[in-house]
Amino acid sequence: MTTADTTAPSPTPSSGKSEAATQSKTATTLTTPKALEISKRPKDEIPIEIDGAEHHAALAEAEGGSHYKYDSELTPEKCRKHDVRNMGGRFVCSPCKYKKSNSWGSGVICTELYLSRDNCTYRTVINAQQCKTCNKYGKLELDVSKYVDRVLDTFALWRGLREARKPDDPHASKGPHDRERCHGCKKGICNKNDVDLSQFRYRNQKSFGRR
Ligand SMILES: [Zn+2]
Ligand SMILES: [Zn+2]
Repeated sequence: MTTADTTAPSPTPSSGKSEAATQSKTATTLTTPKALEISKRPKDEIPIEIDGAEHHAALAEAEGGSHYKYDSELTPEKCRKHDVRNMGGRFVCSPCKYKKSNSWGSGVICTELYLSRDNCTYRTVINAQQCKTCNKYGKLELDVSKYVDRVLDTFALWRGLREARKPDDPHASKGPHDRERCHGCKKGICNKNDVDLSQFRYRNQKSFGRR
């Protein structure tokens, strides 16, 4: 009988403790299905608020546009001015593609415009509209050349490079506007008459968005 053969080296207490701690940490990570669900959730393919970054290249190529840089993070606090303008274009609803009315044109596509204090950086947010048939938001097909004109024209006004127009100018849309299905209207910022409301906003906050 040899005692030396049966004596195995015993693990140090400290190493055993740390192994148990690691195991329990792993178990905690694996039992959080909520976090996994969120990361696996499919991205909403149709944006309700469209960042104007994708149209910056067209704006920068236009006359007077190369001056501006785009910043998706630009906040109203950093702006000399921000307001709403209407753009033109179409929305297409793909779930309704086999139905007759799966696309619609609009001259009142509510678009937020932001211009930084130094007049060099800007941002736009285009608000989508919902389909009349299924109430899902449509995919925007923007009239890009009109958008570029309108954004640059508005910034020229804000920078004092042109005179303000009267509210009855030809830009104002005279057609009906479906307020129930316009995201800009839901946010209370849609400006169907497309006038420069900055001067009214500070005088009477309530009147802004109700015109
Ligand atoms: Zn639809
Ligand atoms: Zn609206």
